[in-house]
Amino acid sequence: MSLTEEIRLLHAELAAARKADVQALASKLIESDFSCTRCSKCCRGAFGDNTVAVFPREVRAIMAASGKSWFEVVEPPEGEDYDDRGNLHVFEWVLRRMPDGDCVFLKDGLCTVYEARPHICRTYPFRLDSAAIESYDCEGAGRCPTCSSELVSLAEALIARRIGELEESIALLERFEPFGQGERSDSQYIVVHDSEGTKYVRRSADGHYSFCPGPGAGSG
Ligand code: SF4
Repeated sequence: MSLTEEIRLLHAELAAARKADVQALASKLIESDFSCTRCSKCCRGAFGDNTVAVFPREVRAIMAASGKSWFEVVEPPEGEDYDDRGNLHVFEWVLRRMPDGDCVFLKDGLCTVYEARPHICRTYPFRLDSAAIESYDCEGAGRCPTCSSELVSLAEALIARRIGELEESIALLERFEPFGQGERSDSQYIVVHDSEGTKYVRRSADGHYSFCPGPGAGSG
């Protein structure tokens, strides 16, 4: 499928997501019998994959709420796509974690950026795939359902997430700069593709990240 066709389909999905019926979705969520127990396991590293992918606008919201810098909030995800200069290419960002795997914003079992937390955190353990609800393992499933106002809030958050994901994908593809496939090298450059375009990141020997002009403008 061409990039143009992919973008056209995403626009169609976005139009449908913007018309989604919150009450109908809330009614479907009732069947999940979900109620958050505030266990915080989804934020912790000891209970499975707690990777939280985030978009630039979410990173900036967390920066504003926490006073932290870009690279104190996120880092590039792991990946296996290399260009013909051996630079790693990845998509979007992931929240930083402590050495024990816990999210850096988790403190005493509570989220310290709760009001600015990303879409994924607001909607866990659910996500929308088109109109279908997908869910992940969570100890809150199978309990008494949350009250209807909470289900409506959850439905609104799921629709907002779906819209945010589609807007992000469209903007990313519109700004995407294709690259020739290559092999892994000792390059310290990571090329991150997101809705704002192409960002070049340098990882120093001690593991610190910084933005840089890109290998074409430097020594890479
Ligand atoms: S941002 Fe908050 S809710 Fe999300 S994983 Fe981190 S501590 Fe948990």
